Amino acid sequence: MITELLDGNQRFQTGTSEHCADRTVRRLQQLESQRPVAAVLSCADARVDPDLVFDAGLGDLFSVRVAGGLATPEAIASLRYAVDALGVRTVVVLGHEGCGAVAAAVAGVDDPGLAPVLDPIRAALAGRPGEQPERVCTCVQAGTVRGAMPDHVDVVAAIYRPSTGDVVIHDALAAHSTSST
Ligand SMILES: [Zn+2]
Repeated sequence: MITELLDGNQRFQTGTSEHCADRTVRRLQQLESQRPVAAVLSCADARVDPDLVFDAGLGDLFSVRVAGGLATPEAIASLRYAVDALGVRTVVVLGHEGCGAVAAAVAGVDDPGLAPVLDPIRAALAGRPGEQPERVCTCVQAGTVRGAMPDHVDVVAAIYRPSTGDVVIHDALAAHSTSST
């Protein structure tokens, strides 16, 4: 499944996205039910739209978005719904370069209104100085998601790079090793 997503990302990068013209048809085909092929947990950043980044069709992705791409209890519950009720077997935890939430956390922004986002990011980054913060944060979120999913589900950590448009899969973070049973 991840291969299909990366193929879509390739189309996105090269300006050859396919899923623009078929939305009316797809909308009408899915009035009774949804059958997404993958779930994506990503940041709310307006430039990081998984449907566009993966050139996915209407209804293809079960998308959960929150600033920082955090694996909050609500996000986890949403992903579990995609897995348990909709049959999704691939969950992509998609971080991105240039994440404002991560940058604010690193910069020590002190705003009580933002604390529910910034505090978990700081906790994720604690003890990992010198490492690329978006990657670390995404790794930690993916680990949390992995721990909350059934073993048969693939959890893939990835980073979207707006400068190039590509999505880099971090195999080391894929956590397949815990899904062998
Ligand atoms: Zn972000």
